Amino acid sequence: MSRLSRRRLLAGALFAKVFGASITGTAPRIVNAAERMPSSESLPWHNWSGGQSAQPTGRFAPQTEDELIEFLGRASGPLRPVGSGHSFSALVPTDGHIVVLDHLTGLRAHDPATLEATLGAGIRLAEIGPVLEEVHQGMFNLPDIDRQTLAGAISTATHGTGLSLNTLSAYVSGLRLVTPSGNVMELDAAKEPRLFAAAQVSLGALGFVTEVRMRNRAAYRLKKTTRLQPTEEVLQDFEAQARAHSHFEMFPLTHSKYASVQTIDETDEPIHNPQPPPDQPDPYDELMRALVHVPVAARGAMIDAAVAAAPQSEPVVDVSYRILANVRNYRFNEMEYSVPLDAGAPCLREILRTIDEKQIDAVFPLEYRYVAGDDLWLSMFSGGPRASISIHRDARFDYRPYFDVMEPIFWKYGGRPHWGKVHSLKHDQLVKLYPRFKEFLEMREALDPTGRMLNPHLRVLFGIAT
Ligand SMILES: Cc1cc2nc3c(=O)[nH]c(=O)nc-3n(C[C@H](O)[C@H](O)[C@H](O)COP(=O)(O)OP(=O)(O)OC[C@H]3O[C@@H](n4cnc5c(N)ncnc54)[C@H](O)[C@@H]3O)c2cc1C
Repeated sequence: MSRLSRRRLLAGALFAKVFGASITGTAPRIVNAAERMPSSESLPWHNWSGGQSAQPTGRFAPQTEDELIEFLGRASGPLRPVGSGHSFSALVPTDGHIVVLDHLTGLRAHDPATLEATLGAGIRLAEIGPVLEEVHQGMFNLPDIDRQTLAGAISTATHGTGLSLNTLSAYVSGLRLVTPSGNVMELDAAKEPRLFAAAQVSLGALGFVTEVRMRNRAAYRLKKTTRLQPTEEVLQDFEAQARAHSHFEMFPLTHSKYASVQTIDETDEPIHNPQPPPDQPDPYDELMRALVHVPVAARGAMIDAAVAAAPQSEPVVDVSYRILANVRNYRFNEMEYSVPLDAGAPCLREILRTIDEKQIDAVFPLEYRYVAGDDLWLSMFSGGPRASISIHRDARFDYRPYFDVMEPIFWKYGGRPHWGKVHSLKHDQLVKLYPRFKEFLEMREALDPTGRMLNPHLRVLFGIAT
């Protein structure tokens, strides 16, 4: 058997496993960065993908909000809050101090009448589901993974899928912000509406979020189905499906005419979510690893054949947080733009066409989802619902040749970049995309007049010289 035929068989089997089965997995144990690292020690920092790194002067991991305030009074130089380092863009890197709020965690209060819960800002999204379940609450939505901290996720308007579902930031009903000068501000829409709308998506530029109050709903169960379908067929009917299901999204397979389509809806059915044995390799990772070595021109026919042979997948039912988030172990870098809803299909078509025409080496599937609109100053979805489109590149390879070709396509369709993902936009372009951008910058200057919370990336975004 030739090497190519063997690869084809392997990738075919992997496709059947990946797209014929749920890729929801058991979350690995969360490693608490503050437990691992002594405070105030100069250790290198890097993000999840390895694409961003820094050599900060030190790390500070306060046990309490008071310790943070005391530190702010004595520390000098730049300061950057860090969550779990899952942003692909350079929001965190600094040669000053990195401030880790991992100790500020846990459920602090909850209200059974309003279904709100107050959480320490450093809590991981994966930890929120179980603690809320104990008080019969559930988050409205989750992003694709749940490794992020709550504060980190809201700071970039992190979102999941759903035409009627908002970003996590829009479900924040109140928060505590410690300003760079150590003042504590309790913010909500009634007390400080302008500052609250700015702080709900702040890129870590206004101060340190120490506590977050979230609007939730009663705990609930979800049913997920996954199928393979031609991308064009899904696109034709996408809006109707997005209205019919609480979550509807697709992962167009590059170099192929198919997409993996996911539908999630509420259910009362009994839990049925079989987990793979713990030592079984992740089929998604295996597939990506196999395809990387197949020449681009050979991938399309191979993927389409594998898709045709893939068995139908079994629906899975579980409590909401176990259905919504996935485990992604295979490292990549990502660019995501959200475009107005009616620009979603033409933008996606142009991206897929360009990948084919230019024979771009793009192994990872794209991700295409709708998100509800909001009125937060720096939310990518402020002003109305949008279609978000993500492209990914194996973290071992330079993403620039791929992303540089794609980014102007996003611009052509009025795209706004995800703050936490790779993009090259600067202040002059961002001002045009966000009607409240200037107000945000005025707010930032009032709270941080000496620019302690800035780093080189934020200076570029905000148009502030070094
Ligand atoms: C595999 C993977 C999948 C992803 N999937 C999705 C997805 O489905 N949807 C989506 O929208 N995004 C997604 N993302 C992006 C990710 O959700 C965001 O980049 C998020 O902001 C990362 O959170 P974090 O806790 O790692 O924060 P970091 O990346 O560490 O920091 C993000 C920002 O938050 C600020 N910050 C952190 N803590 C605080 C604090 N206490 N106070 C003030 N500011 C703070 C930081 O300064 C920085 O500006 C994904 C990322 C990865 C790696």
